[in-house]
Formats: sequence, C-alpha cells, structure tokens
Amino acid sequence: MKSIEHLIDEMKHYSETLWVNPNKISSEKAMELLQKTHPELPDLEDVMDADQRLRRFAPFFVSAFPESSESNGIIESPLISIPEFQKSVIPFVGGRILGQWFLKADNLLPISGSIKARGGVYEIIKFAETLALNEGILNIEEDYSCFAEEKFKSLFRKYTIVVGSTGNLGLSIGTIGSALGFNVLVHMSHDAKAWKIDLLRSKGVTVVLHDSDYSVAVAEGRKSALSDPYSYFVDDENSYELFVGYAVAALRLKQQMIDQKIIVNADHPLFVYLPCGVGGAPGGIAYAIKLVFGDDAYVFLAEPTHAPCMMLGMATGKHDRISVGDIDIDLKTDADGLAVGRASGFVGQVLTPLIDGIYTISDDKLYFMLYIMHEAESMNLEPSALAGLIGPIKMLYDSEGFGHLAENGLLEKMEKSIHISWATGGSLVPESIMESYIKKGQVLSGTL
Ligand SMILES: *Cc1c(COP(=O)(O)O)cnc(C)c1O
Repeated sequence: MKSIEHLIDEMKHYSETLWVNPNKISSEKAMELLQKTHPELPDLEDVMDADQRLRRFAPFFVSAFPESSESNGIIESPLISIPEFQKSVIPFVGGRILGQWFLKADNLLPISGSIKARGGVYEIIKFAETLALNEGILNIEEDYSCFAEEKFKSLFRKYTIVVGSTGNLGLSIGTIGSALGFNVLVHMSHDAKAWKIDLLRSKGVTVVLHDSDYSVAVAEGRKSALSDPYSYFVDDENSYELFVGYAVAALRLKQQMIDQKIIVNADHPLFVYLPCGVGGAPGGIAYAIKLVFGDDAYVFLAEPTHAPCMMLGMATGKHDRISVGDIDIDLKTDADGLAVGRASGFVGQVLTPLIDGIYTISDDKLYFMLYIMHEAESMNLEPSALAGLIGPIKMLYDSEGFGHLAENGLLEKMEKSIHISWATGGSLVPESIMESYIKKGQVLSGTL
C-alpha cells in the first residue's frame, strides 16, 4: 500500500491516483460501530420511511412537474446497461473490462436533472410536510396534490429556504422550493455555471453570487439564515435529511436489479462508483448500499485531480480539519458539481469503515469519457457525472486497484461482476454548451 506521503505528493502534482481505504471492515461490524459513534444515522426502517414520504408527494410532483408523470411522480432514474461504451473503451485501455457495466442515470432524474433531485427534494418536502402538519392543514392519509392549493402556498410564503451551492443543489432546492411556494435564496460559489444561475433566476429564486469557493458560499448561507426565525438552512455539509433522501436510492436500486434479474451475491460482486464533492450525495447512497447489499458491495468514490477533498480528509483522518488548499491544490476544475475543497466531516467519518477507496480523475479524462459516452450510448452527461465512468478501468488496470481485487479474492470473480457508474447529472445542460463539451472531448480523444 501507498504511504500517505506518497499519496499527498501525487495529489499535489495533480496526478491521477487511487487510495485503498485501510480502515474498511466487514459491513456488519461497521454498522455496529456506526450505531455507537453515530446513533442518529438512519437504519433501514428510516430509509423506508423516507421512501414512503417521497411516494406520498408523488401526486404533487405529477401536477407540478409534468415530466415526472411518466413515472407516476416517483423520482427515480433508470439503470442502463452500457455495452457499447464498454466496447468503446477497449482501444483506450488496451484490454477488456470484465463484468457487466451499468449506468445509474441520475442525469435523467425528474425535477432537476441531477443526483441533487434526491436529497434536495427530500429535505424540502419533509420541511413542507412538517409545517403543514403543525399548522393542522394536512392529514397524512390525504392526496398530496393538495400541496398545490393556496392555503399551503400562503403558509410556505412566510418562509425562506437558504442554501449554499456550486450549482446543482441550488437548482434542485430552488425548483422544488419555489414550486411549493417558499422563497428561496441560493448562495453560489464562483464555480457556478452561468446557465444554472439564469435558470434559477427564471424560477423566481434569489441568487447571491460570491467571488469565492463553495465552502464560503455555504458559510454565508448559514450566517444569513441564522438571524431569521423564518429562514430554513439546508446544510449541505451536515444535513441529516439530505443524507436520508440520498439513501433512498439504494432501496430503489435493489428493486431495479431484481426487476432486471441482475444477480448480486458473494460470487457476483457489485462495484459502485460515485462522484464525490462535499460527500453528502455519495455518502448517503454509499451508506445505504452497504445497508442493503452488505459485503457483496464494493464502493469507490471519484473526485477530480484538482479537488480531492474527501481523499485528503479520509486518508489523513483529518476530515473537515484539512482542505485541499492546505496542500496548495488550486480547486480549478470544470467538474463544478465536485469543486469542493473541504469535505463533510460527518460523511468522512461515517464512510471510514464502509468504503473500499477513492480515486481521482483529470478533467481531460472527464471530457474524453463524455465524448465516448455521447458517441457510444447517445447519452449526454455533464463533466462531473463522468467521474464514475473510469472506475472499472481503475480497478482492473491501476496497480492499486488490481492489488485490491487480488487481496480480496475478487480477481476470479470479475467476469461475473456488476459495475455501476453513477451518472450524476447532465440533462439540463443547454444544447450549445453540451456541444462544446462533446467537441472538447473529441479533440482530446486524439491526445490521451
Ligand atoms: C453535487 C454533485 C455531486 C456530488 O455530490 P456531493 O454531495 O457534493 O458529494 C456529483 N455530481 C454532480 C453532478 C453533482 O451536482
């Protein structure tokens, strides 16, 4: 295994690297341990309860977001087999990718076209439901299309939801928040794409731009919400509700795998690759995947070489007490959804006994993967969403990844393995911008 000095040296030089987590333990022991250190963490029942809450809101989603009517208001993304992509990477890798490869296409999620539609929407509907119950205007048994009625909107209009974001969380919270009638204030970091800001403002959301990074945008949001009792702050760095909302994905995934007859067991290991920014989304999903699939699931997080905050936090054990700036990393990445310099301490601690490791990917590779995905599967993803797509390649063709498979007796099982790369966003990217991304990937494909 790599020394921490070596790892930090690689990070400082923006080299792609893979860190194998030495603190991973069996999932049963990990859950026992977490129950002691983090008793507030959701158990399976809590996650099922969150799933039920989302289902109660389905009739409202159908009326407020017509694109969700196809799925009857269930906010879920398809699990898609990607054989053409799997073939297309062979010349680039110089060999085959063993196993079956799938895309968890959160880019197609209704409401906000990114993984943030899971946690963001969940936290706001939970808040709305609680307010309505306290006000005595809601019966939990009734049809939740009532949330479109004026008496609900006039209640919610008294409140302002505040959030700090690099873009997608703001989009998610802004969209669901304003649909319910809340005022929404989004503090944006300088990485935020102009089109995301414009889209939010077009929905009546107030956007405050900060000439600083994500962590400062979150801190500003927290500060502005503190002074006002009618403010509700969505804390991307620490939120329990976001975490539970994301966790629901694992229940849905399990059902999709059953429906598609995809087998996971000790002889058919499941590998999941999750793009990571501050950690909330991949944290909630990874945690629940371990709850649901136990030791048959192997989870890796994926970060840009210019923003490896979770790798730095977990590998040093310093979590949120260290930022990538402390080792002179510049945080310059086009993967705006992952442009975070300081990871969530809460998530880093929770994932310490659970995940297999973290790897980094360069922006050039993100664009290259983006181009291949477009050509091979006609699927258009935003740069952040491609980070999970290099996962299987890292496992089989990086010496640390390969070593990890060998050490866990997984090499002979790879032919029967299942790889799921989590595609975290992309469907809202304006066409002209998507074209420029594809072009960039095409140009780069000749150079990598
Ligand atoms: C936010 C985001 C992520 C990562 O989620 P975190 O909670 O920040 O770790 C990944 N991909 C996209 C497109 C995102 O917007």
